[in-house]
Amino acid sequence: MTIRLAEHAGFCDGVKRIVRIVDETLEQSSNVYSLGEVIHNDRVNDGFREKGLKFLGSQDLSDIPTDATVILRAHGVPKAVEEELRARGNTVVDATCPFVKRTETIAEKLDPEKDVFLLAGDVSHPEVQAILGYAECPVFVFRDEAELDALLSEQADVLRNRTVTVAAQTTFPVQVWHTCVKKLNLFYTKLVIFDTICKATEERQYEAEVLSNQCDRMVVVGSKHSSNTTKLYDICRRNCETCLVESAWELTPAFQIGANTIGVTAGASTPPVTIKEVLEAMSEVENKQVNESEENFEELFEQSVAAEEDSNSKFVAGTVLAITNTEIQLDIGRKHTGILKFEEYSYDPTVNPAEEVKVGDVINCMIMKTNDVEGTDMLSKRRYDSQNAWVELDEAKESGEILEGNVTDINKGGIIVTTEKGIRVFVPGSLATKSRGEPLDKLLKTHVRFQIIEVDPRKRRAVGSIRAVLKEEEKAAKEKFWATAAEGQTYTGVVKSLTSYGAFVDIGGVDGMIHISELSWKRIKHPSEVVNVGDTVEVYIKSLEDGRISLGYKKDEDNPWYVLQHTYQVGDVVDAKVVGMTSFGAFANIIPGIDGLIHISQIADRRIEKPDDVLTQGETVKVKITDIDYDKKRVSLSIRALLDNGPAYEEEPEEEDDDAPVSVYDTDVDVPTPVEEAEAAAEEAEEVAEAAAIEAEELKEAAEDAEEASEAAEEVAAAAEEAAEEAEAAAEE
Ligand code: SF4
Repeated sequence: MTIRLAEHAGFCDGVKRIVRIVDETLEQSSNVYSLGEVIHNDRVNDGFREKGLKFLGSQDLSDIPTDATVILRAHGVPKAVEEELRARGNTVVDATCPFVKRTETIAEKLDPEKDVFLLAGDVSHPEVQAILGYAECPVFVFRDEAELDALLSEQADVLRNRTVTVAAQTTFPVQVWHTCVKKLNLFYTKLVIFDTICKATEERQYEAEVLSNQCDRMVVVGSKHSSNTTKLYDICRRNCETCLVESAWELTPAFQIGANTIGVTAGASTPPVTIKEVLEAMSEVENKQVNESEENFEELFEQSVAAEEDSNSKFVAGTVLAITNTEIQLDIGRKHTGILKFEEYSYDPTVNPAEEVKVGDVINCMIMKTNDVEGTDMLSKRRYDSQNAWVELDEAKESGEILEGNVTDINKGGIIVTTEKGIRVFVPGSLATKSRGEPLDKLLKTHVRFQIIEVDPRKRRAVGSIRAVLKEEEKAAKEKFWATAAEGQTYTGVVKSLTSYGAFVDIGGVDGMIHISELSWKRIKHPSEVVNVGDTVEVYIKSLEDGRISLGYKKDEDNPWYVLQHTYQVGDVVDAKVVGMTSFGAFANIIPGIDGLIHISQIADRRIEKPDDVLTQGETVKVKITDIDYDKKRVSLSIRALLDNGPAYEEEPEEEDDDAPVSVYDTDVDVPTPVEEAEAAAEEAEEVAEAAAIEAEELKEAAEDAEEASEAAEEVAAAAEEAAEEAEAAAEE
């Protein structure tokens, strides 16, 4: 597998600049505040927090001491906020990205009386809020072409009477921008256009488009709350399967299985160290090489996780006290106030906590960090939810509970089933179907039931088995069948396989066999002349012996003797085809399956030496049915009885010849002919062979079961090995 990293992945110049400014400011001053998080990356923000930076969730400036230094982050702040800070005496360090500053300046210079400002962007984004704070003329924000259309019609008067200036949020999608500008050009001849989309954004989006078209899968590294990261994710997932991870920890080995080329890109606020860890984790999954120190790494990892869980990661239920623009404050029953940042609320970036939560709600969270100085506990609901889902999976393994999910991916090792809580469970190929060797493709996008056979919540690794559920269902179906099965009972079944001696039919979890002689009233050489694998057939139980189910298929009403009885009677004249000659007469077919004998004395009204003196094989002649013996399955025919001038010579008495094969379809065993006896013996021999074959089949299945169990154990061991490698990466983190 090849891993390709986008050329412009990670920190952009604007982010590098602000990281440097914050570091320098923290070295020089002791009382430093940031209005909101510095960049969209917890790891970087936590690093600053440890160095003493204080984050202000809201923009209530009264919380900031007047002697404090305040950093304006890359998104910038409204002009009024900056002015108020300076008026209060605070030292202001303006780290607003120059690209954002440019748009602020454009907005600031617009004439309040003559201009109108259109800004392409997300009105709730801090950058857009900051820019709006600089404009004194009428301002309208649109997010896409549809919103622009609405704006053009609703604000037609304002737009017609002023000079229209248009600019964009730095991370606005390039293609949407071009479409909107084209539309505006159709409406306004005096349009002033400022393409303020940051080049770093443009480059990243272009590279993501190209790379995701060239790779099997893409990994986008960055915060789910970063505008430019989620836009990269949206671009990539249009072209190939894509996952968005904030760190190597969230990467699952299963995502890589089966891919030839995986591309990696990262949002502008993703630090190089995180990208490096993701690349290393991906390489390790690929290499799967056990190095000598693996055990030590695993031990260290186990210890570090245990220690972290003891000290920090406790679960709490908190009551919502207040909701700001960026966080939820909770009473968690301690001296500390619980702070649940919006980005820690859910893994789903479309969820808006402000809309979901209200004061008084109780939320289950995990404590991520305790700050005794500030008297706060940083909480995470999404990590609680995720952890909880893994705990539930662990419990399901112990209880054997059957879980459900959708098959979302297929790779050469097996399939991925995603549960309703978003957990990806790996099902090895040998455990994905009831029998070995069945194709996996047909499972994609289907809903399946499975059991967990291996799970490690801390390493986020789960292995499941669909086969275990199918086997259980088969066992239950068998029990149900044997509880109600009786001879004569009818079933609708599906032909599963054919052998030379019959067809095996699934009649609802159990297999029965239709013997070849039971498939047709006609003599057939192979079951495939009547049925094929996959056919749906109506059958009934002929006999139940020693766990073997013999099925009946052919019906009485199809029996030629039954047909004859209901069609003709003695004295009827029929057309018959001459199908055979012997010294004592000719055989002629009267209905499919029944040949009658025209004795030599009944062929003509004169003495003949042999039948072919008068008849020709294949010719059709009119005959009279002179006798039907249903017991012996014999039909006597006569041509002579139909001749006008009647008998011309003295009739010889018709000799009874028991050995004569007058019909080829003898089904009655009460009076067996030698041919029938021979056939019965042959059938018996076939039945013995069949019983032996069934036993052999059962033994083979048992052997296969044992082999599969051993393979499953090997796969679980391999899964554990992969998990250990993941652990190694996590331990490094
Ligand atoms: S993405 Fe562009 S606008 Fe945003 S911080 Fe980086 S350089 Fe500045």
